[in-house]
Amino acid sequence: MLLFLILVTGPQVSHGLDPANMDTGVNPCADFFQYAVGAWEKRTTIPAEYGKYGVDQEVEARTSAVLKAIVEDAAADRSASKGSERQKVGDFFAAGMDEARIEGEGAQPLERFLARIAAVRDRNALATEIALLQAIGTGAAFHLEVGPDDRNSALNILQLSQQGLGLPDRDYYLKQDAQSKALRQEYLAHVTRMFRLLGDVAPTAARNAQTVMRLETRLARASMTRTETDDPIATYHKMSRPMLARQASGFVWDAYFRALGLDGVESLVIRQPAFFREVGRMAQGVPLSEWKAYLRWHLLRAVAGYLSSPFEREAFAFNGATLEGTQALPPRWKRVLAETDAALGEALGKLYVERAFDPQAKQKALEMVGNLRTALRARLQRLEWMGEATKASALAKLDAMRLKIGYPDVWRDYGALQVSRTGYLRNVLAARSFEFQRGLAKIGQPVDRAEWSITPATNNAFYEPTLNELVFPAGILQPPFFDPAADDALNYGNIGATIGHEMTHGFDDVGRQYDAQGNLRDWWTAADEKAFAARAALLVKQFDAFEPILGMHVNGALTLGENLADLGGLVIAYDAFQRAQQGNRAAAQQDGFTPEQRFFLSYAETWRFKMREETLRARLVTDEHAPPKYRVLGPLANLPEFAAAFNCKVGDAMVRPSGDRPNNW
Ligand SMILES: [Zn+2]
Repeated sequence: MLLFLILVTGPQVSHGLDPANMDTGVNPCADFFQYAVGAWEKRTTIPAEYGKYGVDQEVEARTSAVLKAIVEDAAADRSASKGSERQKVGDFFAAGMDEARIEGEGAQPLERFLARIAAVRDRNALATEIALLQAIGTGAAFHLEVGPDDRNSALNILQLSQQGLGLPDRDYYLKQDAQSKALRQEYLAHVTRMFRLLGDVAPTAARNAQTVMRLETRLARASMTRTETDDPIATYHKMSRPMLARQASGFVWDAYFRALGLDGVESLVIRQPAFFREVGRMAQGVPLSEWKAYLRWHLLRAVAGYLSSPFEREAFAFNGATLEGTQALPPRWKRVLAETDAALGEALGKLYVERAFDPQAKQKALEMVGNLRTALRARLQRLEWMGEATKASALAKLDAMRLKIGYPDVWRDYGALQVSRTGYLRNVLAARSFEFQRGLAKIGQPVDRAEWSITPATNNAFYEPTLNELVFPAGILQPPFFDPAADDALNYGNIGATIGHEMTHGFDDVGRQYDAQGNLRDWWTAADEKAFAARAALLVKQFDAFEPILGMHVNGALTLGENLADLGGLVIAYDAFQRAQQGNRAAAQQDGFTPEQRFFLSYAETWRFKMREETLRARLVTDEHAPPKYRVLGPLANLPEFAAAFNCKVGDAMVRPSGDRPNNW
């Protein structure tokens, strides 16, 4: 089934390494990234619609081709019964593709929201309006979500966190270098142009943009840095409603909760209390006319992509072109398809799995996860730096780790979501509001461990510490990441390292603070914690030294969790691979490489990417992952197994001195 679809809809898939990607003129011990994928890098130009391009985009092109056929079929099927998932998927896509209607409507779909903002007369109405805007998916003022309580992971709790910015991070508002200042000027010009599109006369638009910048800068100043927000203890402040009202007085919390139908909520988690104190001061002190400009902007930036082309083009000119360096919008069908997945991901995912997910892939993936778990267990058992008590808890946590592969056992019920063929924005907002209300309904309820928070067609995987679970959707279980027809070296070096990566997130700088049940609880002895941190510090130092853009380094602290996971994932995948190889040496040499060499070449394939400089710049500030190239160079230089496979020696760039190598696992 899978093979058939690939033949008719997607690019040809090979079941092995592609030697044409390699640059064998480079010494693997000097620069393994260049050696493994240098020829690909040389011959590839980033297509205009991307800021970052590589193996993910190739995989996603294949998935998109399948999904496109599904949504087009559904859209063409006018006999689908009203209210069925097929009708909803088809109509959602069709409404998004109805450019004539969208162009004809201009900003009209926004009018009722703009009128509501204009009618805000007092501080009560301000809090109410912020609630209503959040309920349709805007990031106005702050962020609301519902999820497991970090300290009682069996129950869901309401959580509020910092947000409310139009630029990607607080740094963008606060840094004083020429580049940052210039970017702020461009942002001001962009916000001004957007207000002009809403009908503001030029001086008003410019003044409103200045107001937005001033309010957002205050929020940015009160925000934690990315690294600070990673600390689960520093960002856990459970409090009662009265306590919140005292701490962040000025904001009319009662009006806010009433607007959301949450009068009954008694306690909640505040992630960044200092931020909310500032929200309180601003709610009290900033003139309502300024708040209205800010709210109009946050409404507009959240929906510009679903309005007529002047809005969509202006949003792209800043968010795509200026911030990411992207040269062209992706084709309309791709944008609408992505939105269909965001709105109806499990309805679409059900159809995707039926068409394109091989049940054998699920079996094989389960078997690999089992082997990786065994390998990590063995490593934990023989760790010299970890004491017996901590070790016992770590093993219990590993045993309790749950697994989700492919797609949910129980599919989401979209019964309450109305979708029509007319009104793209209305559909998008209905879907966001459906999702928001689904979240609110969970407050105080037991956590549903069967629920998925990622759609089946997504090319990604993750570990969730509050649930102690690993999630691998169908979208990532395909070549070249994973191929049941390929040999062990390739699968373990690629998806195996990813499985290991996600597994060790349970024990990284953040994950290790949660226990087997997903509760934030300290189960480490002080000595073990110290030993762990000393090893992790070596990795921070290694990545701090990488300088992808002159004057701009990788942030070793921000990327620590991911770097620990990359390194840990590789060592346990390698162990599991060696185990799988026992009695299976038939595959000894293929394409002129040993199985061990193929393992590492396959790993490098995971990180075959090119990035525009603007994208790279933005990611160095906001992304918890180091740029792809360093995810090859960094961990491999710490691995004696890598050095042995390619016969690299001390003194080579790809071999770090043994005292500098972090060996957490
Ligand atoms: Zn990760």
